[in-house]
Amino acid sequence: MKVKVTLHGGLRDLLYEDMGKSGEPIFIEFPFKRSIKDLIQSLGIPHTEWGEIYLWGKRAHPWEIINDGDFIEVFGVPDPSLPLGNALFICDVHLRKLAKRLRLLGFDTLYNPEWDDGDLAAISHEQNRILLTRDRGLLMRNSVNFGHLIHHIHVLDQVSEVINRWKLSKLIKPFSRCILCNHILDSVPMDSYLFENRCKPQIPPRVFMWCTEYHYCSLCDKTFWKGTHFLKLKEFCTWVESS
Ligand SMILES: [Zn+2]
Repeated sequence: MKVKVTLHGGLRDLLYEDMGKSGEPIFIEFPFKRSIKDLIQSLGIPHTEWGEIYLWGKRAHPWEIINDGDFIEVFGVPDPSLPLGNALFICDVHLRKLAKRLRLLGFDTLYNPEWDDGDLAAISHEQNRILLTRDRGLLMRNSVNFGHLIHHIHVLDQVSEVINRWKLSKLIKPFSRCILCNHILDSVPMDSYLFENRCKPQIPPRVFMWCTEYHYCSLCDKTFWKGTHFLKLKEFCTWVESS
């Protein structure tokens, strides 16, 4: 069986190396019946990365079985929308820095180095979370409805990639979420019982002398303040919004 495939919207960049990166269209031969979805994923492109599919110019379903000589066109996701309107993420074990940065910007982001691929796919599915990973195989699991193959290697570029893909810059809320555990931070008034008993003992005297704004994670029992990191964070937010 032999089919012709044309990839649009940057999908060609996702092809496995041995598929070649130039020239259109691609001709693929295989000895058995298979669905369009199975074929496209076998090229290295997870289903989370493509949108509409056309068979001989007519809209087709990913599960349609391919016939000999078919001509298939696949388009990238043109304007990805957030699952149910919520910016919820889950990062795989290799994206710890990205998870922390997303939390720093206030995005609900799960990360646990003990979770395996099955756990990540299941949690993503159950909670409608966008699964962020650089592992194509993980995104190719049928249970993964929302995900994104992270292209960049450096964490700042990765953050920018996520923010730009879902146009999240207006949803950034620095210092609203614990970077260690993802829990919502409480803003703690300095005249409160909580501040006196839980926060104050954690604050170095040199910080206490000038800082008047503190945040507290009740799960980690940890106090955060807008110290020198905050200026870097503001610069970082500005950079993300402008990139
Ligand atoms: Zn915490």
